[in-house]
Amino acid sequence: MTAKVIDGKAVAARIRGEVSGRAEVLREELGRKPGLATILVGDDPASSIYVARKHEACEEVGIASFHHEPGGDVSQADLTDLIARLNSDPEVDGILLQLPLPAHLETEPLIAGIAPGKDVDGLTPYSAGLLATGAPGLVPCTPRGVMELLASEGIDLRGKRAVVVGRSTLVGRPVAALLLAADATVTIAHSRTADLASVCREAEILVAAAGQPQLIDATMVSPGAAVIDVGTNRTDEGLVGDVDFDGVREVAGLITPVPGGVGPMTIAMLLSNTVDAATAAAQA
Ligand code: NAD
Repeated sequence: MTAKVIDGKAVAARIRGEVSGRAEVLREELGRKPGLATILVGDDPASSIYVARKHEACEEVGIASFHHEPGGDVSQADLTDLIARLNSDPEVDGILLQLPLPAHLETEPLIAGIAPGKDVDGLTPYSAGLLATGAPGLVPCTPRGVMELLASEGIDLRGKRAVVVGRSTLVGRPVAALLLAADATVTIAHSRTADLASVCREAEILVAAAGQPQLIDATMVSPGAAVIDVGTNRTDEGLVGDVDFDGVREVAGLITPVPGGVGPMTIAMLLSNTVDAATAAAQA
């Protein structure tokens, strides 16, 4: 079997189109565009590129974006104040604190300071709690993108055996919670899992989010499985996923490429979360 390759760029483009339509309706209702505030601290080149891409994407779909770059030596107190100001700014529907932060800053209290209704990255403990209890709320962008890719293929997750490789708060745990909410039977594997290969072979849905180049090979995949590769690893050979694409493609039923799979979904879901947050604020 040769797997069908899921085109993340195409799915992301469709979602951006939908977001654009919803943003236009909101602009008429609110008399302003939905707004996303971004905060970039320090001079990490990758972070600068990610934030610039988020602004371009906002522009494209009709979301106003407000950029804050308080300087690499900003204090914890000043950054806390900035977040508090954005929390009460009526033009701002979503707040994105670009990670990682420089070492002198404590990340968790800053994230926790983002108002839950503006937590478009879905990373506050409040949002994580809603997700863990199965309540509606803002969901982290990449995990939401994984679910959209599965939905784009019309996969009914009810009763399916799903394995998520990785247990980070950013990807693995929220993906597992979303799969569970969709009634899959979910196993979370991680760096201490014994016999990862046999755990993975049980999966009808396999989500790889370990950050280990080509960790998942063809011997670890059950024939016909849907394989979603979240991994983004920069190597001498370029950007590679956590899945050995060429080998696994011959066994799986569905597979996402890297690049061009989950990657494009992350920004699309950030835009979608921002419009969701603006919609909820308008209805409050
Ligand atoms: P992380 O380092 O925080 O977590 C990795 C997880 O994988 C850990 O829970 C660890 O236990 C597990 N793991 C590591 N090695 C393992 C092994 N050999 N076997 C089994 N489990 C193992 O990383 P993260 O933030 O969750 O990101 C995971 C990957 O997803 C990275 O490659 C990251 O770059 C990528 N990522 C991509 C996007 C995107 O937009 N496409 C967004 C976020 C993260």
